[in-house]
Amino acid sequence: MRILVTGGAGFIGSHLIDRLMEQGHEVICLDNFYTGHKRNILKWLDKPYFELIRHDITEPIRLEVDQIYHLACPASPVHYQFNPIKTVKTNVMGTMNMLGLAKRVKARFLLASTSEVYGDPEEHPQTEEYRGNVNTIGIRSCYDEGKRIAETLSFDYHRENNVEIRVARIFNTYGPRMLENDGRVVSNFIVQSLRGIPLTVYGTGSQTRSFCYVSDLVEGLMRLMNGDRTGPINLGNPDEYTILQLAQKIQQMVNPNVEIKYEPLPQDDPRKRQPDITKAKTWLGWQPTIPLEAGLKLTIEDFRARIENSEASTIG
Ligand code: NAD
Ligand code: UDP
Repeated sequence: MRILVTGGAGFIGSHLIDRLMEQGHEVICLDNFYTGHKRNILKWLDKPYFELIRHDITEPIRLEVDQIYHLACPASPVHYQFNPIKTVKTNVMGTMNMLGLAKRVKARFLLASTSEVYGDPEEHPQTEEYRGNVNTIGIRSCYDEGKRIAETLSFDYHRENNVEIRVARIFNTYGPRMLENDGRVVSNFIVQSLRGIPLTVYGTGSQTRSFCYVSDLVEGLMRLMNGDRTGPINLGNPDEYTILQLAQKIQQMVNPNVEIKYEPLPQDDPRKRQPDITKAKTWLGWQPTIPLEAGLKLTIEDFRARIENSEASTIG
């Protein structure tokens, strides 16, 4: 199959491309390199069945493909809030362009939506039926509301134009290749503890998240794409931790001497988040297999190698 991955040079997209290439598909990676990087897909660049296109999805593009994994959108609050209007454009115009492409070539379209559509949830854990508690005018809205309209667009293209859609609501995912300056909690705590500087816990650290290792998530995305359920389907690891617990775990694993310091909680920061994955289990036969500690170990190794490399080249 010829498969388009938008945002393919990013964190999740590049892991997905690894799997698709290993399965022998022809892959087109489309990215504007805002938060993605060529080094993530370096090993495929000289392969005949791989193509890299530098393109911004807010502009239309004509391609012939069988499936579209639509991942292009900055995912970290630091990056999506840097230029919030651009984030909205990416979610609205970008998703419309990719759905238009899917319609024209009759490709199956998978949207990488998010647990953020549940906002600061009043139901716990979150099932797909829960309609969410999102602030329409806050600093996270460009992303949360952007993804909500991306879901709406997907379902309208499905109802109006028979586009085959799949919608995944992805919960916090971590793993190798996250950016060092990504700003997300797992990468921040790992980089801080490797550098021996205090871990920045926002608020009291009592807010919770549930962390899924990237290989598990990619498996879920591929099962959803190739199965017969439209979704939306929650994909995430239901093991829930407070942010303080996460800080202590990483501190223990990397550097027990490093301190924890408390900083103000950002506006609209969800207090808790945990997926109900009953649907993923029954419809896709999917559930995460990598426990937090094992996933963190692999992620820490990756960051350690990158940080040592960059320090060596600075000294050199
Ligand atoms: P990422 O920032 O590493 O990847 C996003 C990629 O999209 C980057 O390569 C970036 O350069 C590219 N991109 C951004 N705007 C673009 C545009 N206008 N045109 C073309 N390319 C563009 O993030 P990620 O963690 O890999 O997330 C991938 C997708 O999964 C995103 O849609 C995100 O919303 C969703 N998601 C991720 C998580 C998570 O925890 N990582 C959770 C929920 C949803
Ligand atoms: N967080 C933190 N310290 C950091 C980065 C994030 O305490 O250095 C907190 C943040 O306030 C949030 C949680 O960790 O409660 C997860 O943040 P992240 O940005 O990773 O993801 P999201 O809020 O989008 O789930």
